[in-house]
Amino acid sequence: MRLSLLLLLAACLLPAQQDRYQRLMRGLLIFDAHIDTPRYFLDEGYRLAGEHDYYELDLPRMKKGQLGAVFFGIYAQPQDYPPQSWLPRALEVLDALRREVDANRGQIEFATTAADVERIHASGRRAALASLEGGHLIAGSFGVLRMFHQLGVRYMTLAHFATNDFADSMTGDPVHNGLSPRGRDLVREMNRLGMLVDVSHISDKAVLDAVDESRAPVIASHSSVKAIAPIVRNMPDEVIRAIASKGGVVCINFHAGYLDEAAYKVYYANRAERDREIQQVLSRHGNGPERWELVRGIQKKYFARMPKTDYRLLLRHVDHAARLAGAAHVGLGSDFDGISGMVPEGMEDVSRYPVLVKGLIELGYSDADIRNIMGLNLVRVMRQAEEVAAKP
Ligand SMILES: [Zn+2]
Repeated sequence: MRLSLLLLLAACLLPAQQDRYQRLMRGLLIFDAHIDTPRYFLDEGYRLAGEHDYYELDLPRMKKGQLGAVFFGIYAQPQDYPPQSWLPRALEVLDALRREVDANRGQIEFATTAADVERIHASGRRAALASLEGGHLIAGSFGVLRMFHQLGVRYMTLAHFATNDFADSMTGDPVHNGLSPRGRDLVREMNRLGMLVDVSHISDKAVLDAVDESRAPVIASHSSVKAIAPIVRNMPDEVIRAIASKGGVVCINFHAGYLDEAAYKVYYANRAERDREIQQVLSRHGNGPERWELVRGIQKKYFARMPKTDYRLLLRHVDHAARLAGAAHVGLGSDFDGISGMVPEGMEDVSRYPVLVKGLIELGYSDADIRNIMGLNLVRVMRQAEEVAAKP
């Protein structure tokens, strides 16, 4: 009770700040670099239209939170699927995203360029973009990469939870000491295509190699700050600085366990048990539609064991990265719908982004800085990648 009252008070601005907030929100583009909803379209028949009281994104809540553009994640976790399923699964999830966007075309449109994002935003609709999470999804083939580009994919994370032929994963075996020679070729091919190189999930050395090799700025689509929460998936200051030094953007992950080390420890200690319980429910309920609700119940139960975090801690990660590397090099990469419901209090779903605008005002950021962090930095790096691709 006391905590929610404090949160409420923190969200109240002084009258002059209130005016500034209203002015800023008018026309503000909020752009999230990483949201994982598409597999729910495919596996669970989850729909964009209509407001839900579960998961973290649908069109009504996007509208409430003024979320104007999203890079949707296409993925098949290497530890969850056999290698022969990776590519077809990625294509099916991408297909599900494109069909869902098509079915709601009055409100949302598929975008592939910075200009598309600006045009769609100006028209009052939402822009949906596609990204691939993990180089394992292209089956070792640059031809497949090029076809994904033709299908509209505009960034790829070099590796996911496991090391692949291109890059060491932060959570995998370090076999290449960063990027492999083939991984460097991959970065150059992505530059040539105008596909952004995403360095979330890969080892620190692999990030530095990618920054070194890339002719365009790179992004970290969903990575938080190690100086605040020293856990394996977060980025140390020197890596954040290196990304910024070549014009890149680090988009902060909202996962409660990535924001707070104590929360991560509880999450990590219980993860195997939680996943076992989920597997039991899935195998017991075959194709029954009730199984997803049961899975969410298990996720909720384990999330309740973690210490509470709130959106102000998320703001600390944003603020740390912005002070370190400059507000031109920080963005938002919530990882919503990819974090099993482990959201910080006050930032439960996409309807909540405006509290970050208020928080940044309170922290003393300028209007220009706030616009950049909330979305324009991502538009800028997309345009830079397009310009690099246009050069021979
Ligand atoms: Zn991820």
